Amino acid sequence: MVFCNTMHLDQKVSLKPFHTFGMEAEARYFVEAKTHSEVLTLLNYRHMIHMPILFLGGGSNVIFTGDFSGIVIRINSKGIVIREENENQVLVTAEAGETWDEFVQYCVSRGWAGLENLSLIPGTVGAAPIQNIGAYGVEVKDVIESVQVVEINSGKQKRFTTEECQFGYRDSIFKRDLKGKVIILNVTFRLDKISELQGNRVTGLQGNRVTGLQGNRVTGLQGNRVTGLQGDRAAESQSESVTGLSLLKLDYGDIRPELEYLGVSVPTISDVREAVCNIRRRKLPDPAEIGNAGSFFKNPLICHEHFISLQDRFPAIPFYPLAPDNDYLAEKASRPAAHTISEGAVKTAYAKIPAAWLIEQCGWKGYRTGDAGVHPNQPLVLVNYGNATGLQIVGLANQIMDSVYRKFGITLEMEVNVIS
Ligand SMILES: Cc1cc2nc3c(=O)[nH]c(=O)nc-3n(C[C@H](O)[C@H](O)[C@H](O)COP(=O)(O)OP(=O)(O)OC[C@H]3O[C@@H](n4cnc5c(N)ncnc54)[C@H](O)[C@@H]3O)c2cc1C
Repeated sequence: MVFCNTMHLDQKVSLKPFHTFGMEAEARYFVEAKTHSEVLTLLNYRHMIHMPILFLGGGSNVIFTGDFSGIVIRINSKGIVIREENENQVLVTAEAGETWDEFVQYCVSRGWAGLENLSLIPGTVGAAPIQNIGAYGVEVKDVIESVQVVEINSGKQKRFTTEECQFGYRDSIFKRDLKGKVIILNVTFRLDKISELQGNRVTGLQGNRVTGLQGNRVTGLQGNRVTGLQGDRAAESQSESVTGLSLLKLDYGDIRPELEYLGVSVPTISDVREAVCNIRRRKLPDPAEIGNAGSFFKNPLICHEHFISLQDRFPAIPFYPLAPDNDYLAEKASRPAAHTISEGAVKTAYAKIPAAWLIEQCGWKGYRTGDAGVHPNQPLVLVNYGNATGLQIVGLANQIMDSVYRKFGITLEMEVNVIS
């Protein structure tokens, strides 16, 4: 049925092609908004349509546990505009429906640095701020200037500054207080223009320093600390103070070994993108082949007491340190008893524990029941081998959460949005 001249409102639409978990689910109504103004037009009908509304981007962070008895609005608005530009930086706005990785490629190919470590994350630009997407030592909040939204009830538009977005680890105001209340229309990014020369110079400097610093820390002090977070920070502050330039982030995961494998000694941002894409293609299951939504759970944050008690029982427990020890001591008196830290108390968290390790320790890696399973190489990724239902996957997730809680006293939190 044609709706508002240009849009088609379809009934009983299978959502299988519109989300990466690939399970059967049907939308009672489905419409695609291909422009910013089509999104606004649809909101005018909001008061007439008394049914639930779901906004969908690329469908790479959702799981359907049944049919959706309302209207699914797929945001597919396109457009990239340069707002401001000078010698060193560019302010660029991308519409919500732009495909995230195409936008990253667009920026990298113009020598605009900041997004290259976030290469190949599925989904759209509009969804990126919602859970503050992150990978390989970078979170999208690091480069977001503002987020333009429209309130669903009033139709009023508002531009959120980074501070107002209240970004946290896989979290923002859009995932909490404003969930289902606003539509993200576009996102503006502040990116550094980085010439090949700058890229080389900065990388050279960083390379030398980071190797020295991290080498010492890892062997001398860190034990099972997962390298990356602290190393990055130390290297950033030192190199930035010397050069004042944006830095390539090379010390997270396998980026450096991959660059070495590619034969690159002085990488550019394109090289970093290529390295990240190669690693991701090797490590993560492709949703085109096997249904999944990436990491199903967040990495839990725990307080010091809890961490110490776990380290006594599980000396090999890996962790990302979050606060220097003296910060911890200063705050110790006000800390909660040992338990998983809530988002609101992240500042008092001591360590982030890789959820994949916890899940593997509970024996779930490679587990399969029917067509629902835990990926054999990536225990954080739950998979649909073909005909699993959303309820079966969520049932498996609950079993995993129970067993992790029983063994470690840690409550895992789902990263994926469960749509029922
Ligand atoms: C293989 C794989 C790897 C992944 N790797 C990563 C990773 O490394 N790091 C990471 O952070 N995430 C990762 N993800 C998760 C996912 O890609 C991101 O969360 C992505 O930002 C979701 O975008 P989307 O457009 O697909 O959102 P959707 O799944 O369509 O929507 C997610 C949520 O946002 C809402 N929403 C979507 N668009 C809008 C809008 N314009 N306005 C308001 N609400 C909206 C939806 O209602 C829903 O609640 C991965 C997923 C997969 C499948």
